[in-house]
Amino acid sequence: MNMYCCGIDIGGTTVKIGLFSLDSSLVNKWEIPTRTEKKGEFILPDIVKSIEKELFAKGFGWGNIAGIGIAVPGPVIENQIVTRCVNLGWEHVDVAAEMQKLTGVSNITVVNDAKAAALGEWWKGGHENCKSAVMITLGTGIGGGVIVNGQIVSGAFGGAGELSHFPLVPDETEPCACGKCGHLQQYASAEGLVHQFYKKMRIDSRSSILSNHKNLSAKDIIDAARGGDSLAKEVFDDAVRKIAQTMAMVTSVIDPELFLIGGGMSKAGDFLIDAIRKEYRRFALFISENTRIEQAVLGNDAGIYGAVKCVMDNISK
Ligand SMILES: [Zn+2]
Repeated sequence: MNMYCCGIDIGGTTVKIGLFSLDSSLVNKWEIPTRTEKKGEFILPDIVKSIEKELFAKGFGWGNIAGIGIAVPGPVIENQIVTRCVNLGWEHVDVAAEMQKLTGVSNITVVNDAKAAALGEWWKGGHENCKSAVMITLGTGIGGGVIVNGQIVSGAFGGAGELSHFPLVPDETEPCACGKCGHLQQYASAEGLVHQFYKKMRIDSRSSILSNHKNLSAKDIIDAARGGDSLAKEVFDDAVRKIAQTMAMVTSVIDPELFLIGGGMSKAGDFLIDAIRKEYRRFALFISENTRIEQAVLGNDAGIYGAVKCVMDNISK
């Protein structure tokens, strides 16, 4: 019998779905929109219908599915339950139980999306021989994932790898999305970068090539910094410094072999990665100052790879 696994990455606007053979090669991948209305009650049924269509077209059914890995944008309890996913409209949802009810598949693992992305990058991004890796995803917010011995580290309460909330500025008065103040993502996420730039423009008398632009993006600011705009460069440098500080602190705890930088902002490539490398060396303890720091390569596919890897690990246990 032909057996497969599904890797699913549920985001706030699209769901990415991958069908994998048991030797871990990707057979097909596609996307569907995420319907978040009515507290996200359509999301799982929509996914199930979409996978069924793909399976039926091949002459298969759920009996051909050995396991389903699902990445979600929020904290996950016991690899199955979500207590709150703001982007999806979900409150308490037993994702694994619901999926089992809809599909009859019993081997289902649910994982946080940033952690899944880290695992996917480590696994299929060419780093499988590394014993430990830490990924920082610089997107609208910041995601993080810690891999040790090929396993995601979740911690006692699921908070391990939440690099976005590294407390860096004790006297900050503006709140982070989490409610507390002075966290990394307030300065170094795409949204944070834009916010800090506007803030600087209001209090700084220097002009910037971006002064008359409306609806600035992080890319605009990074491009201006690259072009030598001093205001943009200062905001960019501050973000890079805070990312590097966070990484140096992570190193003091787990001393990983590799850092991976992913997310939309990582498309800035060497300009960003080289700046992070340079600042990291300034902060990290000398024995770890040459830790490899690389740009992530899988882009939006990292989540489906990580999700399916989690469930495949269960099968091989
Ligand atoms: Zn926070």
